[in-house]
Amino acid sequence: MIPPIASRFVAGETPPEALDHARRVNEDGVKVILNLLGEHYDERPPADADTATYLQLVRDIEGSGLDACISVKPSQIGLDVGEGAFEENYRRIVKEADDHGVFVWCDMEDHETTDATLDAFEACAEEFEGDVGLCVQANLHRTREDLERLADVPGKVRLVKGAYDEPKSISYKDKAEVNEAYREDLEFMFARFDDGEVAVGSHDPAMIDYAKELHEEYGTGYEVQMLMGVREDAQRDLVAEGVDVWQYAPYGPKWASYFYRRVRERKENLLFAARAVLGR
Ligand code: FAD
Repeated sequence: MIPPIASRFVAGETPPEALDHARRVNEDGVKVILNLLGEHYDERPPADADTATYLQLVRDIEGSGLDACISVKPSQIGLDVGEGAFEENYRRIVKEADDHGVFVWCDMEDHETTDATLDAFEACAEEFEGDVGLCVQANLHRTREDLERLADVPGKVRLVKGAYDEPKSISYKDKAEVNEAYREDLEFMFARFDDGEVAVGSHDPAMIDYAKELHEEYGTGYEVQMLMGVREDAQRDLVAEGVDVWQYAPYGPKWASYFYRRVRERKENLLFAARAVLGR
């Protein structure tokens, strides 16, 4: 059992706990993206073990009838192992999910993984049309070109600002520059992507408002994705406005480092954690 203090950001340790969380969130009209926490395995057994967990999870999601899908991390399913382990495991997960009617997102990690992730995504998107989505990061200079490539690929794209500390030579470091790039990329997506292929992965009210404007202008259907425990009131408000909202909910035994990352990134989260520890 995870301690109550972590349960704001993490949907439990086990698949049944994660599915229970999804059930509660679905009651508010918010759909759920489940992610088994784990990354950077440099040996095959843990990468294969997490792959097996995802294979079972997609069967459980279908059986549960929940509005839920999954998101996987490349380095969790073999990218650091090499020898085609990632491509093989990713395809196995997408195939199983396709058989069970479950959508598969692929997270994007640091810039050294971008090419391999894009290639694997593109191959699966062509083979399992409409059942996969990929995350891209507005802080990378290369992203506009990647979006041009992705515009012709059948699949969804989640645009995020980018969580990795990338070299200055290939990324925008200044917050205002990242926001500007995010807006430009978002407009490109609404203009060029097919209906329903745009996912706005941000808690930033300015970006959500901009997505609404772009939807008015271009008519392209879109969804908003936010993390569990972050602006959940806004998630419900958007649903009430008729927006398709997905909550990214991580779960699993490796919850501690994810939880501490969330707590460190914002003053309010630190205060929340301190209050929980002090019982106030
Ligand atoms: P920020 O620039 O962090 O914040 C802008 C504004 O948003 C703030 O001023 C505030 O008004 C509001 N806000 C933000 N956080 C909070 C909060 N906790 N409480 C209240 N208001 C808040 N990154 C990757 O590199 N790869 C991935 O695969 C990836 N997947 C993601 C999936 C999802 C669903 C989401 C939501 C994010 C993902 N990220 C990923 C992380 C992303 O790159 C950003 O680091 C993260 O979302 C913070 O950027 P932001 O757009 O939310 O806004």
